[in-house]
Amino acid sequence: MDKDCLFCKIIAGEIPSAKVYEDEFVFAFKDINPIAPVHYLFVPKTHICCAKKINPENSQYVAKIFEAMAEVSKQENIESYRIVNNCGEDAGQSVMHLHFHLLAGKKMGWGEQSLG
Ligand code: 5GP
Ligand code: ZN
Repeated sequence: MDKDCLFCKIIAGEIPSAKVYEDEFVFAFKDINPIAPVHYLFVPKTHICCAKKINPENSQYVAKIFEAMAEVSKQENIESYRIVNNCGEDAGQSVMHLHFHLLAGKKMGWGEQSLG
């Protein structure tokens, strides 16, 4: 855990969040500024700054996140969804704790215009 990290504080309960899922490896909560009717953030319960730092020692957290996303979407009858990870500033990463956006509930575009 990183004492200066927003998502570490959310995982620890120091900052409130609308939790949607939790297990030993994964914490998931509603994005505070949703861009789709369903917008959840799935984060590992260990501080990994970004996708660049995924390695053989911590990749189990990533696998567990994808399992959790499958479980939550099944429980909530979410038929179709998009998973997004922004890695680095130009890609739009604003919180330096690895997270995957789960977006659903609307028809989504694809291609250059969807990149903003
Ligand atoms: P990024 O831009 O790094 O890919 O995604 C960070 C996400 O975290 C953004 O979608 C933003 O709305 C969300 N976010 C930032 N601060 C908070 C917060 O305090 N609580 C919650 N629930 N979401 C946050
Ligand atoms: Zn963190």
